[in-house]
Amino acid sequence: MTYTTKNAEETIKFAEKIGKLLKPNDIIAYKGSMGAGKTTFTIGLAKGMGLDVWVSSPTFALVYEYEGDIPLCHFDMYRINTLDELYSTGFFDYLDTGRVLAIEWSENIEETLPKNHITIDIQINEGDSRTITVLGDERFENIGD
Ligand code: ADP
Ligand code: MG
Repeated sequence: MTYTTKNAEETIKFAEKIGKLLKPNDIIAYKGSMGAGKTTFTIGLAKGMGLDVWVSSPTFALVYEYEGDIPLCHFDMYRINTLDELYSTGFFDYLDTGRVLAIEWSENIEETLPKNHITIDIQINEGDSRTITVLGDERFENIGD
């Protein structure tokens, strides 16, 4: 499904709806350029998951982990180019541990990404408008209504 937002608040609200429907071991693979709103979306995702946390970009840490009923792991793969580098983030240790994994720059680990992931593609339109496409799970088909 595709949904267009007019500002960051709308993106957070939309992401909250997705977050409410997430289940343990779900993998969110973000696509979209710098400044598209991947980190902003994750703020809403965490809110929807019921996590009372301050989400910030894991650019330098590579991964931030947030505890909760369903914990959330937020990755930034921007600097990840090799399998060794991916191992160093702990990515493989986090798979199938019940956590939700939200992965910025999933483009960089495309070959390694488990097949059953949810894609969230955020495209920048004019101004503050963003077109968000959610693919890979029928749970989200009618979420924009
Ligand atoms: P990314 O993680 O994709 O690099 P960020 O979420 O860090 O992007 O930054 C997106 C920036 O764009 C934020 O400053 C946010 O406030 C702004 N923004 C403006 N309009 C939107 C929108 N519709 N959705 C999401 N972010 C938006
Ligand atoms: Mg980011």
